[in-house]
Amino acid sequence: MEKILAGVRQFRQHEYPKNRELFEMLASKQQKPRALFITCADSRVNPNLITQTEPGDLFLIRNAGNIVPTYGSNMGGEAATIEYSIEVLGIRNIIICGHSQCGAMKAMLEGTALENLPASKSWFAHAESTRRIMRAKYSDLSPVELGVAVAEENVLVQMNNLSTHPSVAAHLAGGELRVFGWYYDIGGGEIFQYDQPSGQFLELDGFASPAAPLPTRSARPVEVA
Ligand SMILES: [Zn+2]
Repeated sequence: MEKILAGVRQFRQHEYPKNRELFEMLASKQQKPRALFITCADSRVNPNLITQTEPGDLFLIRNAGNIVPTYGSNMGGEAATIEYSIEVLGIRNIIICGHSQCGAMKAMLEGTALENLPASKSWFAHAESTRRIMRAKYSDLSPVELGVAVAEENVLVQMNNLSTHPSVAAHLAGGELRVFGWYYDIGGGEIFQYDQPSGQFLELDGFASPAAPLPTRSARPVEVA
């Protein structure tokens, strides 16, 4: 805890005074985030850092495996936060961001590690399609390749799950909501975005089209380096 408490002191004494105007402005009116960012609880994923955004920019949902339960299957925090972000905050951009070395995806795939984790086992049922797609499509990948493929396939599965939420479905139908699928490579500092025409995750630098519609087919097979 020492590092964390020292950080609080540092924030109070240096960061806050330096950015006082921003914080006072944020406090003086309702938040108006630019996007809903759904990502894993993994401590190595820092949404504000990788998008270089400020307090007030990203509305966040974080959980093990950046999972979005289908509407009605779990009327909990995810469903409420999605609904609120669209209907009340007026958010029109949603990013689902998976990442490399995802422990949640590894545990979900292996299954056996979950025997003493009943809550996790139940939670990963919302990613059962990911597990089945992996089994059907990728039988001969190395562990590293498997880690990339499972994170990418899971992003696509969760994008589809997201579209079952009525507020998402309605605004997608109205053409006023965009959903993006991202894969973040922690070690390489690279971010890839799902590109529906090619069916691949393309590096976001130089990405031609800003809009990525919901996927209708699954991700590319991982190329062997
Ligand atoms: Zn993760």
